[in-house]
Amino acid sequence: MNVAQIIDRLRADRQFQGIPWKVIPARPARFAGFPEALDPRLIAGLEKRGIHDLYTHQREAIEAALRGENVCVVTPTASGKTLCYNIPVLDRLLRNPQARALYVFPTKALSQDQVHELQSVVDTLEVKIGTYTFDGDTPGSARKAIRSAGHIVVTNPDMLHAGILPHHTIWIRLFENLEFVVIDEIHHYRGVFGSHLANVLRRLKRVCAFYGSYPKFICCSATIANPQEITERIIEQPVRLVDDNGAPAGEKHFLFYNPPVVNEELGIRRSSVKEATRIAMQFLNRDVQSIVFARSRLRVEILTTYLKDALRRQHKDPNLVRGYRGGYLPTERREIERGLREGKVMAVVSTNALELGIDIGKLDVCIMTGYAGSVASTWQQAGRAGRRTDVSLVVLVATSAPLDQYIISNPDYFFGQAPESATVDPNNLIIATSHLKCAAFELPFVEGEGFGFDPASTAEILDYLAEQGVLRKVRNKWHWSADAYPAEDISLRTAAPGNVVILDTTDNGRVIGEVDLFSAPVEVYQNAIYMHETQQYTIENLDLADRKAYARPVEVDYYTDAEIKVDLKVLDAFAQTRVGEGERCHGELSVTWLPTIYKKIKFGTHENVGWGEIHLPESTMHTTGYWIQFPEDIGKRFDIEQKELGEALHALANTLRQVAPVQVLCDPTDIRAQAMLRSPFSELPTVYLYETYPGGVGFSEKLYTHHRRLVEAAISLLTGCKCKEGCPSCVGPVLEIGSHGKNGALLLARAAL
Ligand SMILES: [Zn+2]
Repeated sequence: MNVAQIIDRLRADRQFQGIPWKVIPARPARFAGFPEALDPRLIAGLEKRGIHDLYTHQREAIEAALRGENVCVVTPTASGKTLCYNIPVLDRLLRNPQARALYVFPTKALSQDQVHELQSVVDTLEVKIGTYTFDGDTPGSARKAIRSAGHIVVTNPDMLHAGILPHHTIWIRLFENLEFVVIDEIHHYRGVFGSHLANVLRRLKRVCAFYGSYPKFICCSATIANPQEITERIIEQPVRLVDDNGAPAGEKHFLFYNPPVVNEELGIRRSSVKEATRIAMQFLNRDVQSIVFARSRLRVEILTTYLKDALRRQHKDPNLVRGYRGGYLPTERREIERGLREGKVMAVVSTNALELGIDIGKLDVCIMTGYAGSVASTWQQAGRAGRRTDVSLVVLVATSAPLDQYIISNPDYFFGQAPESATVDPNNLIIATSHLKCAAFELPFVEGEGFGFDPASTAEILDYLAEQGVLRKVRNKWHWSADAYPAEDISLRTAAPGNVVILDTTDNGRVIGEVDLFSAPVEVYQNAIYMHETQQYTIENLDLADRKAYARPVEVDYYTDAEIKVDLKVLDAFAQTRVGEGERCHGELSVTWLPTIYKKIKFGTHENVGWGEIHLPESTMHTTGYWIQFPEDIGKRFDIEQKELGEALHALANTLRQVAPVQVLCDPTDIRAQAMLRSPFSELPTVYLYETYPGGVGFSEKLYTHHRRLVEAAISLLTGCKCKEGCPSCVGPVLEIGSHGKNGALLLARAAL
């Protein structure tokens, strides 16, 4: 049975009657042929690979790159975007074997994938073109060869920052001849991470200029609201946008499914995990290939278990279903990806790890267990389904979370919403200064030289660093003078580096998986059930200092779920001023996470069958925050009932978090909001915004300084939003903030002016 026939069946199915059902029409392919200017050897090679023509967007991008323009290609997954950069790069390398290109991917998995794809084209050319991955896993013995013979070096921003740029003197061949820099998945670099990348690129361009090269940039992005703007801010040069997709697409059906209510009184719905399993089985039983997304690693494992069990009951091969998430070993992941491409794996259950461009071919059906959290992510996940010409199907199965329930009951909100826009601020003083240090380490600064900033402002920062003893000014040059090596102390990402490996104690300590340091305390604590596809393990011991978790295979009928207590503490208020009825403040905060207990939850019924304590030290992050505190009797003064005050504060916190990123040029994920009815610091009703980056990068102080502008923006968002009682664009969904939340937030915002 094909997807079109299944869709007809679903239309007749009672459970799917009357649910929001949107049909996105098919789009034919538009071809444009190869540019005449291309090297005939390359065209011959492509034809050997079965590529006989180019889509319109590919030709447009390739021609612009060959003309020497910077390009940003914005087209969905599997629209052939890799050819948009591989063709101009290979064309150049065929003409000039000295030329070099640098490919930057956000993750290792993606770079391996792309090297593979690139290599298959290179192999057809019968010319020696060295393409190598240079990342943390590259063995020392291979590094020298890559530096001298790598025509195309594939890396990630972290490695470029700490492993390549500081050692530019041994990378002379690359920097003297660098003609193209490819940045894939550029939408990934938002907020703080994007601001870091922009500064790494400033350093790259500076080193290149020193060796006499001026590379052009070819970037690719998923659909976001402002791809051209974000690319221009990151590379700080004009960019040609190529976004008129010429690749074909079949008709796509998008269904919004809300599990039925099982308890009217409590408003409890049937479990989204079970409903997603049931829906996925309908496709598995009809040999239709599908991908099931779930929001957490635990849910991925539960769904995988349920689907494999269902197959076993039907005496089918459980390996038709595979799980996929961070923490699986790379070899395992490659095997699953291959299985999907070859059609041996019929369903994959994944976290958003498969949202990025990893090549798994196109599937027929995408089931999302829960809303992906943003419009852009939802479209990216939905993009996994849809072969070139066939009909495809996307089913969003709502959880009972307020945001899911809002989206499911207001599908027009989702379809009418533009994907989120991204922001970066290359001139964030804290970020730019840390890279200025790295740049000075790489090459001394000469008077009159700018680093993103104009020369006068750059000199001011350099003088400041000289006063701190980090630099030394001799005549007209600033030299690096500290002992330490700056790039090592500067991490481009929020998450702490390093992983905890999970070892099977019954199998000579074989590594079965890994988990990032940050998640280890909530996933592999002592007595946790660690699930890895079909195998269950119990964790005997977690040794955080040694970064090892010791596991033993078991067979149990439950899984474990940890409860975490998050605490926000004010350590120091740097400034505090009266505003309206309240006070605005900024200062240092500590955020602590402590896993407290775990629950044992039975498979199938999801009933709680026991619990245990988790004994681990708390994890702490020091950062900076901005907050507004209100007098104790604020409720009385503004006629907000005490029981509604908590919701009003919560609603205000959500609103401020919506408008804050625009004020300080960061990504929504760079800032968190929290409301407290009674803050332990001041004992007053308080709304906090704090930075998710350790130490903070100055957003809180900016919010404090621009308090009025921020609160006014919140008020105009609240009064301008067309929803009656709240929606995800302003205060949050009603289920989360209550029916008086929106009004309460408005009263409190006005009181803070
Ligand atoms: Zn609204």
